[in-house]
Amino acid sequence: MSAPISLRHELVGAFGDPIDENPTGLMMEPAFASAGLNWRYQLLRVRAVDLAAAVAGVRALNFCGFNLTIPHKVAVLRHLDAVAPDAALIGAVNTVRRVGDRLIGENTDGKGFLRAVCEDAGADPVGKRVVFLGAGGAARAMAVEMALAGAAHITVVNRSAERGAELVSILREKTPAQAEFVPWQDAYAIPADADILVNATSIGLYPDVTALPAVDVTTIRPGLLVCDVIPNPPRTAFLKAAAARGARTLDGLGMLVYQGAIAFKLWTGVEPDVAVMRRALEEAFG
Ligand code: NDP
Repeated sequence: MSAPISLRHELVGAFGDPIDENPTGLMMEPAFASAGLNWRYQLLRVRAVDLAAAVAGVRALNFCGFNLTIPHKVAVLRHLDAVAPDAALIGAVNTVRRVGDRLIGENTDGKGFLRAVCEDAGADPVGKRVVFLGAGGAARAMAVEMALAGAAHITVVNRSAERGAELVSILREKTPAQAEFVPWQDAYAIPADADILVNATSIGLYPDVTALPAVDVTTIRPGLLVCDVIPNPPRTAFLKAAAARGARTLDGLGMLVYQGAIAFKLWTGVEPDVAVMRRALEEAFG
């Protein structure tokens, strides 16, 4: 007698509004196929007012988990049964996994960045001085994970003082790293002792591909690791300018792939093929 087979797919997906252009499914579906998993990733347009109903729907429909994007990353917290300690520190959840009947919140954005720094750039955050341009959701996740991974000092450079100071307070109070806030005025001069510089703003994101963060590029020195959070285009104008000054560069595509790979592993228990995921995104972004 042949072994019983299941014709049912396991379901995961993303809640967001807007959601139509979210690329996550493009990398998840080929990764499921390459791992031999009968799973599907759905993009679900969920309006802010419908979030509670959508989470109840996930429970009823037995989804194995889901991702969250704008505007749900913070609002989802009150609908979950538990939140991982780092996601609680960051104050936002981008991934939910189901364990039995419980929904557990995680944040894989900063961990994805950390993995890209370690594996793709070959850099060790321990003892490093890191400068973040921006203090939004992505910067928060990245800075907290870098601090928890052993970065010695974090400078947060941001236009809005309130957001920048709030991130610095979290870093000072809840992580071992030292942290300082610098108001972003004019062209920012990178401190000579910085090891890693990260553009964690949306400046340079498609279609504004020629936009550059206000940085004095003459202060970018050879050997500095310059990272960009922007995945599309992967080779941003900022990274090109940094490379022209002799800096090492790390694009935002790796972070996007790894944050998805970490969610994939949380849901399925299987390590995905990150090369398959990256290739799918490179094709999508042309
Ligand atoms: P937020 O809206 O939460 O934060 C945006 C940040 O950029 C804020 O610090 C904001 O400053 C700053 N900013 C925006 N425009 C300007 C400007 N013209 N001058 C100075 N500062 C500016 O966005 P997120 O943090 O969620 O996302 C930021 C970027 O990260 C997006 O492009 C997103 O696509 C990307 N991202 C990439 C991921 C990846 O996996 N590669 C994962 C998550 C996000 P202020 O506080 O003053 O408004």
